[in-house]
Amino acid sequence: MTDTKRTGYRKRRLGDYVCSCCRLQKPYCWNCPCGFQICPECFEENKWGISNGPTWICPDCERVMRI
Ligand SMILES: [Zn+2]
Ligand SMILES: [Zn+2]
Repeated sequence: MTDTKRTGYRKRRLGDYVCSCCRLQKPYCWNCPCGFQICPECFEENKWGISNGPTWICPDCERVMRI
């Protein structure tokens, strides 16, 4: 394997999202228009508190969003 430097696929930019819970840069976070962002890891941990099946509730502004 000498071809590791070629990236034929588009690189996902870390830093596009910063989780509001763990403060880490993530390739993806669930996000709310108010600015709250939560990464999949934190989402799983807090699922019992913020998610109700197909929706989740932003802990900052209490907006209900679809997953
Ligand atoms: Zn997180
Ligand atoms: Zn919000």
